[in-house]
Amino acid sequence: MSLTPESATAQDVTATPTVSNAARVSAAPAGSSPGNSNTAPIVAPTPDPAELDWMKEQSKLLEGASPRDIIAWTVEHYFPKLTMATAFGPEGLVIIHYLAQIEPRTPVFNLDTGYQFKETLELRDRIAARYGIEVEMKQPSTTVAEYEAQNGGPLYQTASDKCCFDRKITVLRQAAVGFREWMSGIRRDQSPDRASSPIVGWDKKFGLVKVSPLANWTKKEVWKLISDENIPYNPLHDQGYTSIGCWPCTRAVLFGEDERAGRWSGSAKTECGLHSAD
Ligand code: SF4
Repeated sequence: MSLTPESATAQDVTATPTVSNAARVSAAPAGSSPGNSNTAPIVAPTPDPAELDWMKEQSKLLEGASPRDIIAWTVEHYFPKLTMATAFGPEGLVIIHYLAQIEPRTPVFNLDTGYQFKETLELRDRIAARYGIEVEMKQPSTTVAEYEAQNGGPLYQTASDKCCFDRKITVLRQAAVGFREWMSGIRRDQSPDRASSPIVGWDKKFGLVKVSPLANWTKKEVWKLISDENIPYNPLHDQGYTSIGCWPCTRAVLFGEDERAGRWSGSAKTECGLHSAD
C-alpha cells in the first residue's frame, strides 16, 4: 500500500511481529488488577522509541484511510501475528466482513464471559455460515456457577470491575499470547474514554499493537454498511439494545439516550477496561 513506509526501522519492527523486540527494552506490570490475586502475572513490554514513533506516524497517515484500507494495512504488516476480538457488536461485524475479503485466516475470538445473551452467541454460527470464519470462544478458567460459588454470589452486582477483570481482561491477556497485534471495533464518538484512541497505537495493557479501523467512523456509517451488505447482526439491536455486553449489565436504551447508556446502567462504570489505558 502507498501508506507503507520503506524505512528499515519499520520493516524490521513489523517483520518480527512478536514481543521479543520489545522485551529487550523494558517490561512493566500491566494495569493493576482490582483486587484479583489469582491471575498469572502479566508483563506488558514496551516497544522501543523507534517503533513507537513509527506507529504514531502510521496512525496519522491512516487517519484519512477507509476502514477497509486500514484492515488491509494491518494484515499486510502483522498477519499471521494479528488477531481480532469481537463482542459481536456491529463494528466488529464490519471488521469481520472486511477480513473475510482480505484475510479470512485471521484468528477472531470472543470473550465468552458466560453471561452473554443467547442472541449474541447465536451470531457465531451466522458468521460462520456467511463468511466461513469460526470465531473462537475464549472462556475464563471457571464456569459462571463456579465463579459465583467462589465469590459468594454474582460479582456483577457488587464488584463489577473485578468481574470484568476476571472474565474479560484476564482472558484477553491469555488470548494475546503469541500475537503482536489486535484489532478492535471501537469508535471515537462512542464515549469520552474512546475519543482519543489512535488508529494504531501500543496497548500496554495487553502487550500488543492495537489497531482501531473504525475509530473515525460514525454509528450511521457502520449501520449503512451492515444494511447495504446484509451483514448478520444481533437481533437485540432491533429491540432498543444499542450497545450489547453481558446480559446482567446491559439494558435497552430509551429514546434520546446515549448509545452506551444501557451498559452498567445506574452505576458510574462505563467501560469494562478492555479499551481504557490503565
Ligand atoms: Fe461481569 Fe457485567 Fe463485566 Fe460481564 S459486563 S464481565 S457480567 S461485570
